[in-house]
Amino acid sequence: AKAHGGGRYCFFTEELDRSFARTAALEHSLRRALDRGEFVLHYQPMYETVSGRMIGAEALLRWQRKNGALVSPAEFIPLAEETGLIVGIGEWAIREACRFAKLWLDACSEPFEISVNVSPVQFRQPDFAKRTMDVLRETGVPPEALVLEITESLTRDDEAIRKLEFFKRQGIHISLDDFGTGYSSLSDLHHLPVDALKIAQNFTKDMLSNEKQCRIVKAIVALAKSLDLVIVAEGVETEEQFLFMHRLGCDIIQGYYFSKPMPEEELLAKSGRSAS
Ligand code: C2E
Ligand code: CA
Ligand code: CA
Repeated sequence: AKAHGGGRYCFFTEELDRSFARTAALEHSLRRALDRGEFVLHYQPMYETVSGRMIGAEALLRWQRKNGALVSPAEFIPLAEETGLIVGIGEWAIREACRFAKLWLDACSEPFEISVNVSPVQFRQPDFAKRTMDVLRETGVPPEALVLEITESLTRDDEAIRKLEFFKRQGIHISLDDFGTGYSSLSDLHHLPVDALKIAQNFTKDMLSNEKQCRIVKAIVALAKSLDLVIVAEGVETEEQFLFMHRLGCDIIQGYYFSKPMPEEELLAKSGRSAS
């Protein structure tokens, strides 16, 4: 390409080639990562605000590459969605999270809910509901112990809503993740088959310094309460944020202030419930 014209045009072409090559290489290794067992789940505890009891955990995907690097989901999930690889990865995540939940449930008598993130691409697969029920059956986890965290983009989609209704009938819980950043308006909420709202992390971050954000959070909580939805605050990093969410009446709190996501062994050990 360098022979023609010279200058900027060629430069950009090379840049594009390089970024394309990078993406292709990433896709290639992502494709093999599942077979090679390079994915792990970390778990971040979730606490009931009033009692301080740990009532569950969110499963968060990590890619542990053979070269030692731990890759954040933010870096590979968009590509996994584009290529459809998220379907296999996501099903693996549900199965792995359920295996862990079963271990936990067998070790202690208190209620425990495992939250798993589901990509819209994965959720829209025609056999997603069936495969999820299969995983529950195979792992022996009761449906009430599973929470699917979905995004607002699904809430305008009739087919997706039918699937949500199916899950609800089965007893699986649905949580609307990153609420306030997406498409659904507050008025959509009353007819959506969801059990919980997770207030988007940005609100938690900004509400104490930004009066408008603060009012939005208050409005979201008030509305969710009037609809009997469980309210989850995530990204809680400071005591001030915790106390504010507590006062507002958020039911569940999650964030670095209490606990970071951690490997399974660490969580089991921390709670003195290590199997070993
Ligand atoms: P998310 O579902 O909103 O998850 C919360 C993110 O915030 C996690 O980032 C978590 O580690 C981080 N976090 C938790 N507490 C705090 C805090 O106090 N402060 C701050 N600043 N951050 C906190 P992570 O693990 O990097 O995951 C990023 C996103 O990747 C997730 O956002 C979720 O959308 C996606 N993701 C993770 N695991 C899966 C998965 O298994 N399937 C799919 N489809 N998406 C996943
Ligand atoms: Ca989530
Ligand atoms: Ca979130």
